[in-house]
Amino acid sequence: MKITVDRAKCEGYGKCMQAAPKVFKLDEKFISVVLDATGDTDQKILLAAKLCPTKAILLDEEESGKRIFPLP
Ligand code: SF4
Repeated sequence: MKITVDRAKCEGYGKCMQAAPKVFKLDEKFISVVLDATGDTDQKILLAAKLCPTKAILLDEEESGKRIFPLP
């Protein structure tokens, strides 16, 4: 799964980090960065994306590039 954090949308709430601590961390500007895209299960990563209040986490299928979350 390809994980993208939209840095313009992230407001540093840290929900993603709580849901999937091995995948997301906050950088020195309190913006989420991807530490390790395979650090947690896809389920936890999806939960993290769903918990993000600003929908700053975008998930796509690695091979097809198909959007997994958020869906339009
Ligand atoms: S939950 Fe969303 S807004 Fe909060 S730190 Fe993570 S990506 Fe940023």
